[in-house]
Amino acid sequence: MKELIVSKFGGSSVKDASAMERCGKIVAQNPLRKVVVISATYNTTNQLEEMYRLARLDLTGAKVLLDKNRERHVRLTQDVLACFKTDALASVIDDLQVLYQEAEELLQETNQGPKAERLRRGTMESAQQEIMAQLYSIGERLSSRIFCSYLKHLMPGRSVRHFDARTIIRTDSNFLEAKPKWEIISTKGESLLGDIDHKDEVAVTQGFIGMDEMGRTTILGREGSDYTATLLGLALKPKCVEIWTDVPGIFSVDPRILPSAHVIHEMDYDDATLMASLGAKVLFDQTMAPVCGLGIPIYVASTLAPESGGTWIRRLTPAPSPVGMALASHPRTLKVLEQRFGQNNPGILLGEKVGVISIIGKLSGNFILDTFLEGMGITSKVLEQGARHVSFVIPLDRLDEAASALHSRLF
Ligand code: ASP
Ligand code: MG
Repeated sequence: MKELIVSKFGGSSVKDASAMERCGKIVAQNPLRKVVVISATYNTTNQLEEMYRLARLDLTGAKVLLDKNRERHVRLTQDVLACFKTDALASVIDDLQVLYQEAEELLQETNQGPKAERLRRGTMESAQQEIMAQLYSIGERLSSRIFCSYLKHLMPGRSVRHFDARTIIRTDSNFLEAKPKWEIISTKGESLLGDIDHKDEVAVTQGFIGMDEMGRTTILGREGSDYTATLLGLALKPKCVEIWTDVPGIFSVDPRILPSAHVIHEMDYDDATLMASLGAKVLFDQTMAPVCGLGIPIYVASTLAPESGGTWIRRLTPAPSPVGMALASHPRTLKVLEQRFGQNNPGILLGEKVGVISIIGKLSGNFILDTFLEGMGITSKVLEQGARHVSFVIPLDRLDEAASALHSRLF
């Protein structure tokens, strides 16, 4: 194991100059934070998706959105560099403009149809997905460029460099949900960044993006920047991988729904994977996979309160019980869960009027879930039961109430 730390900062943590400054201070505070992974700034990926949709019918409308995003990033660059005496501003803005030019060309191509060379390489659908992945990659390429310049100014005595994650994160050609190739990533990471542990250097890169065998940009799936951080963990064997966000760790249940939720201070890799894949908006669900076999811990904490602790995800034997709850009610989440639960419940359709609650961790033998819910007049149906979880469906209008009662009874 090396001494270095891989630190990932999420989109809301780099949303404006003061947010970026908080991230900068966190990096500067510990010289072991040598590999920094940055998400696109808050909402940028959503906006790029929206631009793609618009561009098919209304190129002008898409460009208006692009210009708004450009203004936001130019302002962010100005704000974040404002307190330094620097002539770097123009060169950063020039680099951003190159990326916006690329985005504009991609929107044009979206509107007119993929160029012949893309079509030659694949079907219409894959040519379109190739354009989408390339367009979505721009968010992370913008934010990492700005953050790198900011870090250089903040830590003039240290060597800070910007590197393209695509040189390491090699994937298959499933453009929008690309599968990373772990072996190649390990080899590339070792050869391109392997010696960083011995240097006083910080490398800043993009989350979410990768590259296929033919050199085409791919993305790991929405919210995939967490995964980039642990894939770099797989390659570099750091002391730990940090996921910096705007909440102080992983909560026992979504705190926006239940204010009585508490931070889980320690959890097992497998429980964290269950929480994430059963709908809790904590981490990208595959985040734990690259590092759990190596025993590299993941630390989740808040840039808003870096001193107030967070959640350590590591191997815990025996794993504590129960750990937390995942609630799912958003149509997009329910669609994902339908596929998962479909294996045991063929033809299952989770309609609009249901919610799914999953309890993670072993329930004590004398707690009978059905009886407990029946006591509240709530009918439930178990969809999946595993050694460390149970997931069940209930009417949507009883979701918060059931979650609240279960939370106070179990946690
Ligand atoms: N920017 C990407 C997204 O919003 C990846 C990430 O932030 O994790 O999905
Ligand atoms: Mg995220």
